[in-house]
Amino acid sequence: MMKIDVLTLFPEMFSGVLGHSILHKAAEKGAVQYNVVNFRDFADNKHQTVDDYPYGGGAGMVLKTQPLFDAVAALKEQVEGNRTRVILLCPQGKRYDQKIAEELAKEDHLIFVCGHYEGYDERIREHVVTDEISIGDYVLTGGELGAMVVIDSVVRLLPEVLGNQESHMKDSFSTGLLEHPHYTRPSDFRGMKVPEVLLQGNHKLIEEWRNKEALRRTFLRRPDLLEKIDLTTEQEKWLNEIKKEYE
Ligand code: SAM
Repeated sequence: MMKIDVLTLFPEMFSGVLGHSILHKAAEKGAVQYNVVNFRDFADNKHQTVDDYPYGGGAGMVLKTQPLFDAVAALKEQVEGNRTRVILLCPQGKRYDQKIAEELAKEDHLIFVCGHYEGYDERIREHVVTDEISIGDYVLTGGELGAMVVIDSVVRLLPEVLGNQESHMKDSFSTGLLEHPHYTRPSDFRGMKVPEVLLQGNHKLIEEWRNKEALRRTFLRRPDLLEKIDLTTEQEKWLNEIKKEYE
């Protein structure tokens, strides 16, 4: 079972996300255990202060070393082995993507450190953290939303979490391509028709249509992804046909 610890100053923010839908069911099924901890509880000073003014002056407050060093050490002690990834949410971190999600889904123990205010004392980065992750090139007020994004995308990849119905194998990015379009009943909605091939029950043709449409979608929306994968000879042929349609 994967253990996920979250260190935050705002634990209440997590109950909505971890307490509903697939993330909640994953914990009920025993695929994951969540533990959201207020790291203020680890502050060893009388007023439980976790931040302080930056040396050298300037705007904003900086998260202190002691509460986070001690909180991470305590959480590591609760888990056997030393394969813990300590992930700092941070706009300066590695840009998050599906590949990182797949890598993290193989781990046994993740600790997420959610910052707030101006930043962290640099010694936290250097001595406590194993990974720094950014969820995109923009600045949030805190790491909580980032941690939720990463947790959601990792937990859905754990074995047994998604049923066949919700399988992630063909999701956008898992194959290196964006996913093909989907349709459901009715086949004709106010004159807008579902592609004929999907209605005829020929699974080989349906599969071929889906593969081509995934290629088309990726070519039109994210051509950069095509440069990162090795296409089969058949996919190369389809891609050339698709490109000709848009010349
Ligand atoms: N002064 C910092 C800088 O320029 O890098 C930004 C601090 S931000 C206001 C406060 C906290 O929000 C960060 O410590 C981090 O935990 C979180 N955060 C902000 N943007 C993020 C992003 N793109 N990805 C992940 N976490 C982010």
